[in-house]
Amino acid sequence: MEFALSAEQEAFRTEIREFLARELTDQAPIEDGWITGFSREFSHKLGARGWIGLTWPKQYGGQEKTYLDRLILTEELLRAGAPVAAHWLGDRQVGPALLAYGSEEQKAAILPRVTRGEVVFCLGMSEPGSGSDLASLRTKAVEEGDHFSLSGQKIWTSFAHVADYAYLVARTDPDAPKHKGISEFMVDMQTPGIEVRPLVDITGEHHFNEVFFDNVKVPHEWLIGEKNRGWYQIASQLDYERSGIERLLSNYPLFRDAVAYAKHTGQAKDPLVRNRLAEMHIELELGRSMVYRVAWMLTQGGIPNYEAAMAKCYCTEVEQRIADTVSGLLGDYAVLMPDSPAARLAGRAAREYLYAPAYTIQGGTSNVLRNIMAIRGLGLQPGR
Ligand SMILES: Cc1cc2nc3c(=O)[nH]c(=O)nc-3n(C[C@H](O)[C@H](O)[C@H](O)COP(=O)(O)OP(=O)(O)OC[C@H]3O[C@@H](n4cnc5c(N)ncnc54)[C@H](O)[C@@H]3O)c2cc1C
Repeated sequence: MEFALSAEQEAFRTEIREFLARELTDQAPIEDGWITGFSREFSHKLGARGWIGLTWPKQYGGQEKTYLDRLILTEELLRAGAPVAAHWLGDRQVGPALLAYGSEEQKAAILPRVTRGEVVFCLGMSEPGSGSDLASLRTKAVEEGDHFSLSGQKIWTSFAHVADYAYLVARTDPDAPKHKGISEFMVDMQTPGIEVRPLVDITGEHHFNEVFFDNVKVPHEWLIGEKNRGWYQIASQLDYERSGIERLLSNYPLFRDAVAYAKHTGQAKDPLVRNRLAEMHIELELGRSMVYRVAWMLTQGGIPNYEAAMAKCYCTEVEQRIADTVSGLLGDYAVLMPDSPAARLAGRAAREYLYAPAYTIQGGTSNVLRNIMAIRGLGLQPGR
């Protein structure tokens, strides 16, 4: 197998690195830049370079580049800890969903704005009691003349407090079997009847929310795709959601800086430390090859399914081991020297240690992904 990228792809990588070296000079590297690194200004800059919606058709502001090109771009952004959260969901998920199922009017109205970095989305999937079993959701959208009336509650909705639109799923046929009565909508977050309440996570950060809908009027033209076919539309979107390099590199800046720190302090001379860091390096490379495999399948027109589940499951568990390893490496030493570089790194490590359990929950839990691998990948059937 030939793993080398083309000369054009290598040149693209160099161009991105040079841009980031110029742009991120006075910014400390950020862990979870795609979740907490919210900067509309930075997204505008990427949009101006054509680096949002890279694979999309030119008529909607895209560049018609390949999924591998997009992977090179996202890999470099995350490795550098760039603040990419403001456009991440639009670029990764909502755009591809609109390209697949949206009407011509919807695509023309939204996609060019996404590529310019002008639109922030939140994803309204999970509800209290409906996470892994998403098809049990209860938020309902009742058709009333020229609009749907939306009522219910979403939870864990990242960016709802700053989003322009919610891309969400709601029940449109309460009498149909649970997978068959669901539809997808785009909802303007300024519509009367929407209330966003913050949820603060264990690290003290606020990036997700509860969102309440009370008879919110959603114009008929913002139904995405076919009414009651939403479940089948979501399935492929979740594969996109799962398989990106953000499932591996969320805390890469922490790992990179911890390796430098171990060298600087001499801790790297300890064979146990060296062994652990080398193990993490191997796992990062393995995870990377899984993510490249998924991008390669997409480039070839394939539809990754268990491959995406496998990549997300493995990679997010690597991220958790990185948080654990770096916290262990710094240990009490950093606490004893609160103003030292070690303490600053330890602060990041401690935050990561607290945040890392989320990796294997958000975007589908590892248990659920293992079910997908067992059923779709290995052909095993669930027991009674
Ligand atoms: C940081 C973060 C950001 C998030 N952002 C968003 C967002 O923007 N929008 C959104 O809609 N949601 C978001 N979520 C929610 C996320 O998608 C759900 O938390 C996730 O799907 C799990 O659902 P749940 O929390 O209801 O847990 P549950 O589904 O109740 O699962 C509880 C436990 O049971 C296990 N389990 C459940 N079903 C099975 C099964 N069939 N087989 C084996 N084990 C099973 C799970 O693995 C888990 O360990 C976010 C979550 C996090 C942590």
